[in-house]
Amino acid sequence: MRMSKLYMPTLREVPSEAELPSHKLLLRAGMIRKLVSGIYSYLPLGYRVIRKVENIVREEMNNVDSQELLMSAIQPSELWKQSGRWQDFGPEMFRLRDRNDREFCLGPTHEEIFTDIIRHEVKSYKQLPLSLYQIQTKYRDEKRPRFGLMRCREFIMKDAYTFDRDEEGMERAYFEMWKAYEKIFTRCGLDFKVVEGDSGAMGGSDSHEFIAMSEVGETQIAYCPKCDYAATDEKAVCSYDIHEEIGEELEKERVHTPSIKTIDNLVEFFDIGPDKFVKTLIFKVKDEVVAVCIPGNRELNEVKLVKILGVPEHELELADETIIKEATGANVGFAGPMALREKVRLLVDSRVTRMKNFVIGANETDYHIKNANYGRDFKGEVVEDLLLVQEGDKCPKCDSILKMDRGNEVGNIFQLGTKYSQALNATYLDENGKEQIMFMGSHGVGVSRTVAAIIEQYHDDNGIIWPLSVAPYHVIITVVNTKKEEQIQLGERLYKELNSRGIEVILDDRNERAGVKFKDAELIGIPIRITVGKKANEDTVEFVVRGKDERLEISSKEAFDKIKNEFEKQGLIF
Ligand SMILES: [Zn+2]
Repeated sequence: MRMSKLYMPTLREVPSEAELPSHKLLLRAGMIRKLVSGIYSYLPLGYRVIRKVENIVREEMNNVDSQELLMSAIQPSELWKQSGRWQDFGPEMFRLRDRNDREFCLGPTHEEIFTDIIRHEVKSYKQLPLSLYQIQTKYRDEKRPRFGLMRCREFIMKDAYTFDRDEEGMERAYFEMWKAYEKIFTRCGLDFKVVEGDSGAMGGSDSHEFIAMSEVGETQIAYCPKCDYAATDEKAVCSYDIHEEIGEELEKERVHTPSIKTIDNLVEFFDIGPDKFVKTLIFKVKDEVVAVCIPGNRELNEVKLVKILGVPEHELELADETIIKEATGANVGFAGPMALREKVRLLVDSRVTRMKNFVIGANETDYHIKNANYGRDFKGEVVEDLLLVQEGDKCPKCDSILKMDRGNEVGNIFQLGTKYSQALNATYLDENGKEQIMFMGSHGVGVSRTVAAIIEQYHDDNGIIWPLSVAPYHVIITVVNTKKEEQIQLGERLYKELNSRGIEVILDDRNERAGVKFKDAELIGIPIRITVGKKANEDTVEFVVRGKDERLEISSKEAFDKIKNEFEKQGLIF
């Protein structure tokens, strides 16, 4: 590709809405453009990277005998109603109607559609196991689309579905995918961790997430430095400290706490630690009001809460002022578990039951209650664990201290069991002619998000630093002065030779200052730069690997060897 012809609308300024490095750099490097919130166009350089990642995914899927096909993004509501997810998916689903008023959605995922195809065509045990995948555009109407390609409303995903005769087969397919995913993300150059995940809207039993590490990642994970335990914070549990506070239950006391509402203010006012408070959080769940008591120094895990309540996540909302006033009889900030309105359902984290003489809201504006005790002063439905794990909690497997880290989910694998095959009646006849339900798995890779996750790990102040495996082009030849015939000639010769060897090359033949050319090359992150300058007539070029300080003056022949070296270093074939 000649730079003079390349459509690469780079930006000098960092767009103000972009927070993450990947978002800023994809926009600045002219790789994507926003159409509307959470929906992007992939421009030529960006789309080349997408295709690179897709091809890595494709090769590794084919290696485990998964077969590629392509399904429609438009899906009829009937199938979703059969699986029960038409409601469960809630406002995240893009819905539409055709001219005959038939309901459809833009597929957020494809379990129903794959199951539908298979149930009509696969009848015998001899046709199983089966593994199918597609690389396709998905739609989710995110509440807060943000971070560029990281959380979009339209995105490119690889989704694979496996169909097996029994649970054992499903597990085998699961671990095969696991291995394939490890290869995919390794080839993309990512530093990642595999962690237990919550199955959320997919249902089923076991699931794992592949998290590309990043300090500013959206997903928080807990992991054990001693054993292999690792999970997203939504899923993570910790070994329970069954420590019960000892001591006498003191007489409870109503304390005037004018306008003192937050835990921080209360800590200061009472002059005791945050672990001596119990927070009461009020939620609206459909038509029900639910109050939740947890220790003052901990955070609630909403995913654990919706599981206990048995509702989809979008139906849980923090109560507004009116509901809080009605439920507690007090202004916001003074809710407590005592004397709540009768109809309020009260859930209590089990740790609260082991605390002694703590402070709670009095359900009376400007008052708290000191020396409250569970059992004596209030009772609720005790729930084993409602808390988010935090650094310092103990590993549930080995009791070592857990650590926290952050990253972005780039892949997930689910054991679905018979959730969809049962609902949609996907059965086969076994060796004895008996009808059996299929066991399924569902396995996703966020292709566009992987591109963003790679940039999060590979960039510096000047721009992107692509690994060779996914770079839009491998080499950029920068001709310093296009008015010098010998420079143009050498640049053209190298361009031809590299192209003929299958190396993907950009020739920067623009009539621009050298500084501009170097800046652009760095911004778009081409891994290897060959600069043709003053010593062109001696067949000498400058060789630079993006992200490294070393600048070598070498012959064009040596430059070829160096390129070969770089490919080999990154495990690629020249
Ligand atoms: Zn451990």
